[in-house]
Amino acid sequence: MAIYLDHNATSILKPAVIDTVVAVLHECGNASSLHSAGRAARRHIEDARADVAALVAYKPANIVFTSGATETNTMIVRGHSGTVLLSGIEHPSVIETQPAALHIPVTADGLIDLAALENLLAEHRPQLVAVMAVNNETGVIQPVSEIGRLCRKAGALFHCDAVQAAGKIAIDFDGWGCDFMSLSAHKFGGPQGAGALVFRSQTPVPRLLTGGGQERRQRAGTENVAAIAGFGTAARVAVSDLPAYQALCILRDRIEAARPDMTIHGRGAPRVANTSCFSLPDRNAQTMLMQLDLDGFCVSSGAACSSGSIKPSHVLEAMGVSRDLCTGALRVSLGWNNTGEEINHFIESLRTL
Ligand code: PMP
Repeated sequence: MAIYLDHNATSILKPAVIDTVVAVLHECGNASSLHSAGRAARRHIEDARADVAALVAYKPANIVFTSGATETNTMIVRGHSGTVLLSGIEHPSVIETQPAALHIPVTADGLIDLAALENLLAEHRPQLVAVMAVNNETGVIQPVSEIGRLCRKAGALFHCDAVQAAGKIAIDFDGWGCDFMSLSAHKFGGPQGAGALVFRSQTPVPRLLTGGGQERRQRAGTENVAAIAGFGTAARVAVSDLPAYQALCILRDRIEAARPDMTIHGRGAPRVANTSCFSLPDRNAQTMLMQLDLDGFCVSSGAACSSGSIKPSHVLEAMGVSRDLCTGALRVSLGWNNTGEEINHFIESLRTL
């Protein structure tokens, strides 16, 4: 069996999540139906809403379920037609939705340049600012509360893609000063195809999907009840597993000490415990990835969404990483089920590249 070290692309389902999803799949009910089966489906969704709200320390009434973070990001970024500021290291679902947006520069370590953000806010008076909490490629944690404070001062709405923060660090929607936030269940042990929007009370929510009256008319379409219920369980488990999760940095640090010629991206910035993005000199990431695959390891080159294309990672480019190093960049992202023994084997393989 392959050793899976690509949890930022999608993480392995937690056992409690599988139990929830399977149990709900055995039931039948449209959450909009008034009969008992419909009411049972509705209960699963409302329970999950409370669990997801607890994950972000906000109110259940301010959670809208979606099909995932791509939908949520598109909903928010497309839904604001005024000037939009976003960092150059956002996920493509943010960047490609607003090609005309202004980009906030990042430092060589992948942190938002706060002075540049302050100047851009003063000069352009944007309607919306989109900055992710944790980068999917480097694991760098942004100073979100500071970004939220600057946006508030300038009268701009702040959208935070917290997809890679969930389950990895504590999320505080209100304390971070967010107006909108996107989440995706499959990045922290939940099922694929379930996500959420969190919105600040009194802030109008732009609609992307129209039709039925689901999700208080904020997102039309029959709810994926089993996936949403699994999302709720994953959120609940993530909150209780958060302290233990931090121990993954011991394994991550061992990988980063495996070779003296590794350039570790974002090393000087605060990072989540599970992610390492590094380059080896004069190597091609696709070739290394295939070699590691033959050795039985699943890792990624840059973002999973852009794997398969040989374009250098836009995240590393925005950080000013040289083209050569971009070409040789791998991302290893650990998860709840990885063991020290697996990492020993991985290090052996890494040393042969
Ligand atoms: N934002 C970030 C930071 C991500 O890593 C991803 C997944 N690659 C997404 C958004 C998109 O999430 P989803 O897979 O739920 O559409």
